[in-house]
Order: sequence, then structure tokens, then C-alpha cells
Amino acid sequence: MNKKTLKDLDFKNKKVLVRFDFNVPLDNGKITDDTRINAAIETIKYLQQQDAKIIMLSHLGRVKNEDDRVKNTLAPVAKRLGEILKQQVVFINETRGKELETAINALQPKQLLLIENTRFEDLNGNKESGNDQELGKYWAHLGEVFVNDAFGTAHRAHASNVGIAANIKQSCVGLLIEKELTMLNKITMQPEHPFVAVIGGAKVSDKIDVIKQLLIKADKVLIGGGMAYTFMKALGFEIGDSLLEKDKIDTAKEIMNFGKGKLILPVDFVMAKEFKDIKGEITKDQNIKIGFEGMDIGPKTLKLFQDSLIDAKTVFWNGPVGVFEMSHFAKGTESICKTIASLKNAFTLIGGGDSAAAAVKFGYESKFSHISTGGGASLEYLEGKKLPGIEAIENK
Ligand code: AMP
Repeated sequence: MNKKTLKDLDFKNKKVLVRFDFNVPLDNGKITDDTRINAAIETIKYLQQQDAKIIMLSHLGRVKNEDDRVKNTLAPVAKRLGEILKQQVVFINETRGKELETAINALQPKQLLLIENTRFEDLNGNKESGNDQELGKYWAHLGEVFVNDAFGTAHRAHASNVGIAANIKQSCVGLLIEKELTMLNKITMQPEHPFVAVIGGAKVSDKIDVIKQLLIKADKVLIGGGMAYTFMKALGFEIGDSLLEKDKIDTAKEIMNFGKGKLILPVDFVMAKEFKDIKGEITKDQNIKIGFEGMDIGPKTLKLFQDSLIDAKTVFWNGPVGVFEMSHFAKGTESICKTIASLKNAFTLIGGGDSAAAAVKFGYESKFSHISTGGGASLEYLEGKKLPGIEAIENK
């Protein structure tokens, strides 16, 4: 990697600004999944060993109005971090000002401070998300060194990543970003073959570019989920009320042409009249009956996908192949997850988001080589795009 990492800089007694991704799911102020907090611990511990004064920033959800301010405070994250590290985390419920500056100046080496949700600044003219110059400069002046370890937001140019990096003398990526890039590079640079990609999820439009890239690098690309029906429509099948992106039918045709011999589409489905219909029906072929909606891949498709995965040495999975949140339409996603998880001697990577949630839900989380903490960021990286949050960091 050509970007500076923690090993390249000296942190002793320095005020170190660290951008983490603490964008955790909350239910009534309670954290329901602390994976992203745990993913930050290694970098925090490293900086503590180096006697850094640690000033942490993160966004949490979207902040559009005063209600969002109440809902999306980072206070529960500070508490949870304190419990994990068995150490007090100073929490400042402001994103700028005297109280924050005084608390930072009082920090001792190894101590931790968390600044309030950076997106509170979006109430003030979209300053965080719009990468406001003055805000980036202000945050940068609070520290001496900047560490970006927020992989989940690396594909966005915000004041708290790109803005700080542009206005501070020294910067590097943290251990999480370093690991994410090492893992993703196993797919983008000379993956071991056979390389099989499984792409599902709701919309083709979100994943066109990544499917095209994968069709260049992979041996097989299996398509499932809601996006499959736009391909079925393009092939002339009846799709009933299934998800369809009409304006992407030509794109689907183009992808099928481009991916000849590599692209593998479903051959049957589980269909139902509505989501709460628990008696899903298996189609006899690719056609979905009028008045029905495709909810999951069918048994023949499952077998076809499993056979395609059996000898894989590299697997990339992004997107559920059915409406896995409903137990009666989860079989396809659960079985594919199990098949990938059981592969011996294969490098298996999940590109974040819903497929990561599925792996956790079905209990296969620890069986994958890597589960990315950034759905959007990992897709953009695989598409070959530069991630602004990483580009902004100093080169070695
Ligand atoms: P994405 O964020 O694009 O990966 O999409 C994930 C969502 O796609 C999940 O909430 C799934 O329930 C949904 N999904 C998967 N298959 C289908 C389908 N056949 N019909 C409708 N939604 C689906």
C-alpha cells in the first residue's frame, strides 16, 4: 500500500485525531450491534501503547432536524467503548467550541475523548457532508496528527475525513482500513481461481459497475435477489409483480452479452402473493405467475449455485438472494451462506451490508475469511474507483 500507516508515524504525547466509523444501529438509544465499535479497538490500543492523546470523531445516522440530534447522539457509543476498554471515555456533546477545546487540552497520553456526532454540523448548512473548508480546518487544528480508520465512509468526501486530512501536517490510515484494503486486494489483484462472485440484493442499478468489473476478473458471477427479475424480464419471461427496474432492462441485456459464459442466472424461484404469505410456491421454470412476486431462488437454482461454488478458491458475496429477513423466504440466502462458509481452502469475502447481517443472523460469521465493515466502500473499491477518504491520506 502506498499510503502511510500507523507504523510510519510517531504519536508519543501527540494529540491524535482519529476518524472511526461508529455508525452503529440503535434501538431507542440502545446499541443493537457493536461490531463497528469492536472493529476500532485494535487501532485505539496501538495508539495507547504509543502514548497518544486520542480524540475520536464519527458520524451516526443522518441528521436533518432537531429530533435526529436527540436520536443520533454518540453518547451510547462512548459508554460502550468505555465498557469494552474498561476505561473512562470523555464524551463532549458538542462538535466545536470552548468546552471541547478545554477538554482536549486537558487530555493526558492514553486518554480517550469522543466528539459528538460529526453530522450535527449538517444542521448548520450541510457542513460535514459537504466537506466545508472552514470546518475541516477547525477540526484539524484541534490535533497534530490525523488517523483515518473509518472504512465505511472512505467512499465519501466529508469534512471529518478528507477535510481534516487536507489541513493537517501528518496523516495515515488506521489498522482497520489497512486490513480492509489487504483483504479486498486479494480479490482485485490476482485472485486465486476459480473465482466466483455471488451478487444479490434489491436493485441492479446499485451494482451494475461492480458486476461488470467482476465479469472481467471472476470465472463465474451468480445473480440472485430482487435484481434477478430485471434480467428475467430482459430475457422475455413473465415476472408478475416482482421487483423490476424498467429503465435497466437494456443494461441487463448489455451485461448478459458482456458476461456470456460467466453470468449465471436463476432457473426457478419461490413466489408468493405478498410478503406475509408463508406458503410460497416454487415456480416450474423462470416464469412468475401473474399476481405473484419472486421472493427467493428456487431449489434448482440453489443446486446450480452450489455446484458453481463447490471448487471455488476465491468467493466474493454481496447481497442476499431472497427476502432473507422473512424466515419463509430465507432458505436461498441461508443455504448459499452455508455453502460459502463451508468451502475448504478458499478465500471468502463478504462485501458488508445485508449479506454481512445475513451471515451473523445464520451464525456463519466466523467462518468467512473477511467480512467488510463497509458495504458501499467495498463495492466502490472493487469497481476500481478511488476512495476519497483514503486518497486524502499522505503517501509513504
Ligand atoms: P441490497 O441493499 O441492494 O443488498 O438489498 C438488500 C435487500 O434486498 C434485502 O432487504 C432483501 O430483502 C431484498 N431482496 C432480496 N431479494 C429480494 C426479492 N426477491 N424481492 C424483493 N426484495 C428482495
